[in-house]
Amino acid sequence: MFLTDLHDSLRDCQRCRLASGRTQVVFGTGNPEASIMFVGEAPGFHEDQQGIPFVGAAGNLLTELLESAGLGRDHVYIANVIKCRPPENRNPMPDEVETCKPFLLEQIQIINPQLVCSLGNFATQTLLGKKVGISKVHGQPLPLPGFLLFPLFHPAAALHQGTLLPTLREDFQKLKQLLDEMATTPRDTSIATQPAQMDLF
Ligand code: SF4
Repeated sequence: MFLTDLHDSLRDCQRCRLASGRTQVVFGTGNPEASIMFVGEAPGFHEDQQGIPFVGAAGNLLTELLESAGLGRDHVYIANVIKCRPPENRNPMPDEVETCKPFLLEQIQIINPQLVCSLGNFATQTLLGKKVGISKVHGQPLPLPGFLLFPLFHPAAALHQGTLLPTLREDFQKLKQLLDEMATTPRDTSIATQPAQMDLF
């Protein structure tokens, strides 16, 4: 399946209660052949209005951080675990995650990135399949079947809690180093092409 087919199949998705409050499904943005993917939690107000993940203040910060690591938004692919805005930006409920998560996994399988950066607790725990605090695992690569997971604090959290911002900036420099190392190391395609991403949960 192509990414555009998956996107088209979700435009009118009614599989969970979040369909009733959304302006539009916020599928993802960026390079569909990217080797690096960023995954956040769920669309907020501006994302829901514009149909693009990570716009507004947190999006601007993410763009700045990407540039600090030598990346542009058109180098990477950006998506969320949940594709429709929860009312009043509440946390997604477990059944909403269970219903929407397969579409993120399909996105990852189609894009087949070498590295997936999870932004915040929610995306990290969803991709790891276990409850682990972002403050314990941020800034360190965790090998998963098919890709390397690199957890980062969520830019919105760093905006709300200024003390996190220096750590987030440092972690993007670690990401830059990791990308430099990966550029000189051939990808293990025997792992990369496994459909084992679906077994993470
Ligand atoms: S959040 Fe996901 S599962 Fe729920 S309606 Fe939107 S696209 Fe469908």
